Amino acid sequence: MRNRLLATLAPLDFDLLGPELETVALVQDAVLSRAGDQIEHVLFPHSGAISLMIDMADGRTIATAAVGREGVVGSLSVLGPSPSAVTAIVRAAGTASRIPSSRFQAAFNRSPAIRHAVQIHMRAMLIQFQLGAACNGLHPVKARMARWLLHLCDYIGDDVLPLTQETLSEILGVRRTTVTLLMRNLRASGAIRVDRRGQIEIDRPRLAAAACECHGAMRLEIEEIFSMNTARSQATVGPDD
Ligand SMILES: [Zn+2]
Repeated sequence: MRNRLLATLAPLDFDLLGPELETVALVQDAVLSRAGDQIEHVLFPHSGAISLMIDMADGRTIATAAVGREGVVGSLSVLGPSPSAVTAIVRAAGTASRIPSSRFQAAFNRSPAIRHAVQIHMRAMLIQFQLGAACNGLHPVKARMARWLLHLCDYIGDDVLPLTQETLSEILGVRRTTVTLLMRNLRASGAIRVDRRGQIEIDRPRLAAAACECHGAMRLEIEEIFSMNTARSQATVGPDD
């Protein structure tokens, strides 16, 4: 089980989801749900990366968070039927397990371990939202772009990203011409290389030097949440449970 949240579940808790979980492909650039849509499925990625996007009234967009194998898309549906606040788009192809929201909610209500897994995810998302808001307000766009490239590479476990300039402009909320200039700049410093197919290959140490402190801070805090909570799960699940 590659999804880190599902991996925290003991077999009995996993079995509450297991029969309903369906493996699906995450297709590059696929829109999984749009802002305003009812959340029909809860989706646990095993690989690939998804960005959560805010669509502004003037047509501009910006990414507020990324979700990969350590997260889940659509878990807010446990609060009851409500429209999604964000648009979820696949930025790097992969696979996921998905379950109808109503089924997930029933399992969530029965299992403290599933509720705990959702809490881990919520805390990790809050870190992304809070540091992301600070970063968007305080740090230059070049550093933000470096942060996003590193962040997405972390999720896919690879140093090559299938991102177009158009996609980066949507994620960062800047014009495409700005992305072109930033990429030229990062290429000149050796932080990235663009291959013939347009894929971006990163040089991790050089790109990290161009990024702000936020990428490292996010990683550290998210890993702390996982290690703290996994230790707690193990401590509470004894032979008598
Ligand atoms: Zn930053």
